[in-house]
Amino acid sequence: MPQNICKNCQASFEIAPDDFSFYEKIQVPPPTWCPQCRLQRRLAQRNERSLYKRKCDLCGESIIAMYSPNKPYKVYCPTCWHGDGWDALSYGREYDPSRSFFDQLKELQIAVPHLSLWQMNAVNSPWINYEGDDKNCYLNFGGHLNEDCAYNHYNLKTRDCIDNFWLMKSEYCYENILCENDYKTCHSIFCYDCRDTYASFDCRNCSNVIGCSGLRHKQYHIFNQPVSKEEYEKFFKENLGGSYAKLQSLLQKSHEFWKTQPQRATFIEKSVNASGHIINASKNVSEALSVEKAEDSKYILYLLETKDSYDTSSVWKSELCYEFLGGMNASAIIGSTGTIDALRISYSHLLINCQDCFGCINMKKKKYCILNKQYSSEDYEKLRDRIVADMKTRGEYGEFFPPSFSPYSYDETIACEWFPMTKEQVVGSAFGGNWDEHESSSYQFSDYQIPDDIKDVGDDILEKVLKCEKSGKAYRIIPMELAFYRRFGIPIPREAPFERHRRRLRFIADHRVLAPCTCGACKQSVPSVYSDSEFPIVYCEKCYQREII
Ligand SMILES: [Zn+2]
Ligand SMILES: [Zn+2]
Ligand SMILES: [Zn+2]
Repeated sequence: MPQNICKNCQASFEIAPDDFSFYEKIQVPPPTWCPQCRLQRRLAQRNERSLYKRKCDLCGESIIAMYSPNKPYKVYCPTCWHGDGWDALSYGREYDPSRSFFDQLKELQIAVPHLSLWQMNAVNSPWINYEGDDKNCYLNFGGHLNEDCAYNHYNLKTRDCIDNFWLMKSEYCYENILCENDYKTCHSIFCYDCRDTYASFDCRNCSNVIGCSGLRHKQYHIFNQPVSKEEYEKFFKENLGGSYAKLQSLLQKSHEFWKTQPQRATFIEKSVNASGHIINASKNVSEALSVEKAEDSKYILYLLETKDSYDTSSVWKSELCYEFLGGMNASAIIGSTGTIDALRISYSHLLINCQDCFGCINMKKKKYCILNKQYSSEDYEKLRDRIVADMKTRGEYGEFFPPSFSPYSYDETIACEWFPMTKEQVVGSAFGGNWDEHESSSYQFSDYQIPDDIKDVGDDILEKVLKCEKSGKAYRIIPMELAFYRRFGIPIPREAPFERHRRRLRFIADHRVLAPCTCGACKQSVPSVYSDSEFPIVYCEKCYQREII
């Protein structure tokens, strides 16, 4: 296989014959960055959770936005942005063949008004971003159809859930990662169809289990041992009754117990010819992470019901996408972000209900536009072909937006969550991202000591500015959260919401690369995402299915 040197990190990387077929099909030159650098470059164009108070540049109302007030961008509140009070075509401009296309696109990006937050049909939820149909939610990101929830990431159809990462169709859940169809489940990972399940890993259809791993159809178990209902209740009261110290000790014991049990090398379910991790109901996918119902796709992250796509992240119900980040119902998309109900779009950002557009920013219901300027279909095709040829000459075509194109400072983007870098690494490197100096807010922390047990926490905590044990940053407890903790005997978290998210994200982000290891049962080599220290006993799927289920 031909070896290529990544233009960003200088590592060598392979381009497989299948990859070449895909690039030929969509007529792009092969990539010059390695897959991991391409992922980082894509994620540098998305800010989910760095939110700021500022004014809407059209109506003047005070709003919450993902663009800090010190940036050069015009920002409109959702009502103004979706309304008829402005025209994206009025910012249109001629293409200048003597200059880089990305430079011209950057000038357009600075001129056209941006949408403050990505929200669709949000009810009583001003502080959510990249969410649709949420009601009474707070600091939820990237999810859909949630109600009375807070601090969740990529939750779908959940109610009364706090602090989860990729949780589907669940209720009364807390601090879970990659769980589905659960009820009253906490501190668990890969648990499906469970209720009253705590600190457990890869359990199915279980109830009243604590600190378990790999159980199927069981109830009243502690550390995989059957116990009586009375024993279970006594243990629950002692360890999960509301004390922070006791909870920490139980979590530590549970994580140590998980290590003594065989774990599947990668999590792949109901899939054919799939390689990667956290793959469900998919076919012919590789280099895939967190995907469901994906087909014939590669180098993919957070993909749902999408096919024939490469280098695509956070996309739903789409096809024929390449170097695409964030969208749904999109087809034939190249090098774009935030594209919904769209067809044949290239090098564009936030196009809703558009088709045949090239290098456009923030438009709705448009056709045959280039740099936000309207053309006839014939003129559009002629000019598009010319720009593609010019971009190929400059080495721009087929590559995603350069990191400097991002409207965000690198540390505001999800790239920094996945690939943490310092200012020096971002600005003075081949990567060349943006870095803003943020004003650091100073807080007056009170002497308040968070009581160990939730029972001893008074309503006065709602007035306190708490100091995150990990980052030293300020955070607060909101009333809905306090009521939830009291109802379920959950102690007050000692970390700020962002640190809690970062801790859960590591379970996904640090498992993005496969390495060969030996199956603990059949001794065959098997690709795994886990290091020896994380899970010393790893089984191939065949052995896991035979021994565990
Ligand atoms: Zn690289
Ligand atoms: Zn407004
Ligand atoms: Zn095996």
